[in-house]
Amino acid sequence: MVDPSEVADRISLVRDEIIRAGGVGVQLVAVTKSFPRDAIAAAVRGGCDAVGENYAQELLAKVEEGLPPVDIHFIGGLQSNKVKSIAPHVALWQSVDSMSVIHEIAKRAPGARVLLQVNTTGELTKGGIAPHDVASFFDVAVQVGLVVEGLMTIGPTATGVSERERSFTTLRRMVDEMGLSACSMGMSDDFVQAVECGSTMVRVGSRLFGQRLI
Ligand SMILES: *Cc1c(COP(=O)(O)O)cnc(C)c1O
Repeated sequence: MVDPSEVADRISLVRDEIIRAGGVGVQLVAVTKSFPRDAIAAAVRGGCDAVGENYAQELLAKVEEGLPPVDIHFIGGLQSNKVKSIAPHVALWQSVDSMSVIHEIAKRAPGARVLLQVNTTGELTKGGIAPHDVASFFDVAVQVGLVVEGLMTIGPTATGVSERERSFTTLRRMVDEMGLSACSMGMSDDFVQAVECGSTMVRVGSRLFGQRLI
């Protein structure tokens, strides 16, 4: 069950924490994976800037049920064979980390807005392009006509302040060096530190909707 007024309260609290961390104009993406379509409606009513979904099938099922007007960001692991079906519904592709996906998005959604996902932690369990390869992925994405607005990363599993700082400052530095604008980093457990390090977009799920069962 999703209680819209509780979600709205939690959105306000997260926004307050973002401001206290020095964030100005930081976008709040409500991550609704594993939560029902109602969670998306509650996020929209509560004033989130966008909604994040991770799984193609789940997104399509929710679209089928009917969604309020909102920008949907795809933030999950992307396989090129899933791109076509969700392309009409995705406003921003946040998790782009392979050449085949770059080509497929360019084919199915010409001129789409994308972020390149960077693996800033070196953890093998996490997706993302190795930092030293990002420039060549960027060149290809631009060549095929995608609009690369910025970079995205998932912070370290380790909760230490210094591990997080290393990950987030790495991404922020890359965004600056490449002259990009969007720096998507920070989730429920680490968005305050991500904002302190210069995040422009946080992706928050469980803090808004409660624990996920899957
Ligand atoms: C699930 C997910 C989130 C949100 O995680 P929470 O800890 O629930 O806030 C953010 N970003 C990505 C890429 C995710 O997969």
